Amino acid sequence: MEAAALAGLHAALRDAGYRVIGPTVRDGAIVLGELGSADDLPFGWGVSLQPGGYRIRRRDDNAAFGHSAGPQSWKHFLHPPREKVWSARRTAGGFEVEPADEPAPRMAFFGVRPCDLSAIKIQDQVLGRGQHAGSRYAARRSGVFIVAVNCTEPGETCFCSSMGTGPGAGPGYDLALTEMTGDGAHQFLVEVGSPAGADVLAGVPTRPAGEAATRRARSAVAEAAGRMGRSVPAGILHDLMAASSDAARWDDVAARCLTCGNCTMACPTCFCTTVEDTTDLSGDHAERWQLWDSCFDLDFSYLHGGPVRSSPRSRYRQWLTHKLGTWHDQFGSSGCVGCGRCIVWCPVGIDLTEEVAALEAEALRTLRDAAQQRGTGEEES
Ligand code: SF4
Ligand code: SF4
Repeated sequence: MEAAALAGLHAALRDAGYRVIGPTVRDGAIVLGELGSADDLPFGWGVSLQPGGYRIRRRDDNAAFGHSAGPQSWKHFLHPPREKVWSARRTAGGFEVEPADEPAPRMAFFGVRPCDLSAIKIQDQVLGRGQHAGSRYAARRSGVFIVAVNCTEPGETCFCSSMGTGPGAGPGYDLALTEMTGDGAHQFLVEVGSPAGADVLAGVPTRPAGEAATRRARSAVAEAAGRMGRSVPAGILHDLMAASSDAARWDDVAARCLTCGNCTMACPTCFCTTVEDTTDLSGDHAERWQLWDSCFDLDFSYLHGGPVRSSPRSRYRQWLTHKLGTWHDQFGSSGCVGCGRCIVWCPVGIDLTEEVAALEAEALRTLRDAAQQRGTGEEES
């Protein structure tokens, strides 16, 4: 597909009744918002990322998706930061409760990164199925059309490759694009992932991809895997977290962590919420709202008389060990997809990958010391 046909793809989605959401430049960042047309995509913009730092920058080409994760993720649309659960009004005989049954909009997510596609699947597991399934989440999710974009431009803080969630998109998309710029051409390899994807694509000017273009697209994605800014030893994370409950490193990170909760707000898989009940001054009308909450908040673990996790050490440990460890026990996967947002949007630049490396080094030291002590004990006996 030629880049000019992005306009046709956007129009086909609109014609199919979708509200099209995608990346766009606003307030000095690439954010997710409704796209009035394909021209709203961030053509020619990239990002520079570092722990605690984010800047958009001009690219030397006109790529539409030449940027990595921004401050928001798709959870803003599937699991909104604030939503009404019900309202109640006083009646002559008591009160009446009205559920907040707003019809879910049909949304097309235009430009979902592979790591974020994995994050959506994790939220499906947590919020769409099983014990904690939410009907509002399920209603929104069921109408979503996904245009994934394979990653050819990993950021300095990305580590999806080591988490097995990128840079190529796994199943779950309706259409997947791979962007190719250079040599004067700006084209996309398009892959169809569902009958709905095929229907939408039928209305867009495309031609069969030749072998050379397919190879070029595949190698751009494979090269991206080798250019990830960071990595983690994914295979040992569950056991490392379990073995690290008493690690001294928690004190080190607690001395830097502001417990602001930014990492949980930016994370595409964090799902915790609280509820807030309000009444108007007359007492005739009440509402219950669901709001995002964070395990970094003192109130989060408040139980009759005080918070269970009162120290920053205990709160950071809870967040990391749940994300990388006990999430596996609870939901059958890691809670982290390696998008790097928590690193970028932490105001003091705490880097999850650095914390994991420090915990791993400490665990090895502890094992070595124990082995040495055993050796000394055996010699003495
Ligand atoms: S923990 Fe950090 S890197 Fe992992 S998914 Fe959440 S924001 Fe992304
Ligand atoms: S790790 Fe960073 S973003 Fe997360 S709570 Fe601590 S200071 Fe805030």
